[in-house]
Amino acid sequence: MATVYNFSAGPAMLPVPVMAQAREELLDWHATGMSVMEMSHRSKEYLSIASQAEADLRGLLEIPDDYHVLFLQGGATSQFAMVPHNLLRGKTGADYINTGAWSKKAIKEARRYCDVNVAADSDDTNYSTIPDRAEWRLDDNAAYVHYTPNETIGGVEFHSIPDTGDVPLVADMSSTILSRPLDVAHFGVIYAGAQKNIGPAGLTVVIVRNDLVGETLDFTPTMFDYKAHADSGSMLNTPPTFAWYLAGLVFKWIADQGGLVAMAEINRRKSRRLYDAVDASAFYASPVDPDCRSWMNVPFTLADDGLDGEFLAQAKSAGLLNLKGHRSVGGMRASIYNAMPEEGVAALIDFMAEFERTRA
Ligand SMILES: *Cc1c(COP(=O)(O)O)cnc(C)c1O
Repeated sequence: MATVYNFSAGPAMLPVPVMAQAREELLDWHATGMSVMEMSHRSKEYLSIASQAEADLRGLLEIPDDYHVLFLQGGATSQFAMVPHNLLRGKTGADYINTGAWSKKAIKEARRYCDVNVAADSDDTNYSTIPDRAEWRLDDNAAYVHYTPNETIGGVEFHSIPDTGDVPLVADMSSTILSRPLDVAHFGVIYAGAQKNIGPAGLTVVIVRNDLVGETLDFTPTMFDYKAHADSGSMLNTPPTFAWYLAGLVFKWIADQGGLVAMAEINRRKSRRLYDAVDASAFYASPVDPDCRSWMNVPFTLADDGLDGEFLAQAKSAGLLNLKGHRSVGGMRASIYNAMPEEGVAALIDFMAEFERTRA
């Protein structure tokens, strides 16, 4: 098999040892004679897989006991609606922080259910900065405050957790969960589509504080009710069984790497090397303010965008895939989630230097 490094923003690379174990167990999981894909989700074998994955995620993130962990479907995009359905709890408005493309989608969906107060917006810098917490104009009556800790497309990331007092803080962590330790107790809800840093597409993880479940809108579908999922152990209906199993293998792999403290060190190092290479060059540039550059998604531009096509084609020949920036921003983007090895980043940096030497 050719060695390639896949810099896709999602679905993204998975750790090779996880894939190897899944292959090993694919036809016959633990001498059951069955694939995990073929198991009843109510079987004792599958329940052990599911509960072990939850326990391992709780261990990694040190999730306090007063939080539910839900394994759902519908992607982070469904959470854009499920959050207001479950968190308005008699209130009529919510605060949203707009830091870019994913914030905007969350805001647009929330507007269908409540009055959205955009308490801060980094449009004045074309979403290359994070609005200073001191300047947020929060509404005292907001049911919750929603933000996007890592903007997957723009590549801006919060490097600390904003304080919202007693108002529940809701975070779309799709592209940054498990990249470092996290103090879950600061949050009312954390949600993440799996296909960036957790596992394959089809699974969405929701971590929600117990006291925030149980009160929905009158017309909330049962499938959108956090409590219905919590009460049934995320088995209100058939869950995405194989994706849940694979996520469990990823959680074990992270623990084997030394847990989230070790992941953070590796991720900090990978991203710093790449940003240093970009900053040291007169040919490449980062559009993002140095204070809020993402560890996970690194956008960069070439001094001559007429060379973008050639850069991408040569990168592909060198086994460096999916570096094209999002269609809305152009340029390049290297997504370097947990599963991207340090050698992958080193190979990209070497390639960039060689391209600059020969083509710039
Ligand atoms: C990818 C992504 C989403 C969308 O996730 P789906 O699982 O495709 O719905 C939402 N928010 C962020 C920050 C993302 O990176």
